[in-house]
Amino acid sequence: GRNDLEIGYNVPAAIGDRVEDIQTPALIVDLAAFERNVERMRGYVESMNVRLRAHAKTHKSADIARYQMAKGGACGVCCQKVSEAEALVRGGISDVLVSNEVTGPLKIKRLARLAKDARIIVCVDDAANIAALSAAAQDAGSTIEVLVEIDCGARRCGVQPGGPVLGLARVAAAAPNLVFSGLQAYHGTAQHIVDPAERSAEIALAVDMTRDTVQLLKQHGLDCAIVGGAGTGSFDMEGSSGVYNELQCGSYVFMDAHYGRVRGDNGVVGGFEHALFVLTSIMSKTEATRAVCDAGHKAVAVDSGPPVVFGRPGITYLVANDEHGKIDDPGNLLAINDLLWLVPGHCDPTSNLHDWFVGIRNGKVETLWPVTARGKLY
Ligand code: PLP
Ligand code: MN
Repeated sequence: GRNDLEIGYNVPAAIGDRVEDIQTPALIVDLAAFERNVERMRGYVESMNVRLRAHAKTHKSADIARYQMAKGGACGVCCQKVSEAEALVRGGISDVLVSNEVTGPLKIKRLARLAKDARIIVCVDDAANIAALSAAAQDAGSTIEVLVEIDCGARRCGVQPGGPVLGLARVAAAAPNLVFSGLQAYHGTAQHIVDPAERSAEIALAVDMTRDTVQLLKQHGLDCAIVGGAGTGSFDMEGSSGVYNELQCGSYVFMDAHYGRVRGDNGVVGGFEHALFVLTSIMSKTEATRAVCDAGHKAVAVDSGPPVVFGRPGITYLVANDEHGKIDDPGNLLAINDLLWLVPGHCDPTSNLHDWFVGIRNGKVETLWPVTARGKLY
């Protein structure tokens, strides 16, 4: 039942509430758009005949991860941190790739323990780290799958293609309680390039390096069950390359303003739609052409630029303070308590700012999903 002491304190709304009654700033999922995005990606991976391992860094939500596996063609999920993986496994996800290096001794121990409860895969780019994972898995009596990470152009984690990957793959294949499962080949910087020709050229290089390395490993008797990578900005290229067999798209479920720019057509490339919003209220209107809303950068991430005001041409979110957003209102259209729908510049860190996703349909609150792994950074 409705309890006004809880609503507005622990939760931003109650199931069945009207949108106008949601406490702002709130993180909103347009459920119909979200469901269409999930369905569309299922269609893409089916037509390209590759697996989808949806990246849960986007939402940190066990509910959304379960939906992607049940309805969206996902074979499992990715996440970036051990504690995030623990939260997802506790939330019922049984197949998790930590698409990242795990190096701290306690983190390795926890990962090895978690591998007793779920299929756990992790990335490696260092021989001593492989030995530490192997020792922890032996202690725990578990098996951890490893992907050797290639630096395919982003110059972040990963070893160089060819010989260095082969060297580590051999170490992993020989290590007790580890299984060498293939390659991680994710080019994060390339898939965010806004210019399509430049983006394609960079991804093509990554695909070539990965293809050559897969062949080299094969010549040495090492098969890659998983060749994984790709995100929302480029998945169609990796997916149709004949090299990758597991795509790691995350942002496609929400489509932030940055991906609207990367994929053109106001975010509707291949049919993906904006499904994540921060609902904010105008709280001050002391000048004709300026308004102030209650969502600052504690409510919406601004690392990829300010949020875009949805469906209100001419009205612009200019600057985020901690708890205020300055809004340009050249037509003097806004008044106190008016609602604005903000499309976050970057969805992943925006999810991590909130405790709840408020799922809405037809103007009503249909569901509240906790941001299960919010703050799980270790
Ligand atoms: N794979 C890895 C390793 C990532 O770090 C990310 C995002 O940063 C992705 C996949 C997916 O990305 P996107 O949210 O761009 O679809
Ligand atoms: Mn991101």
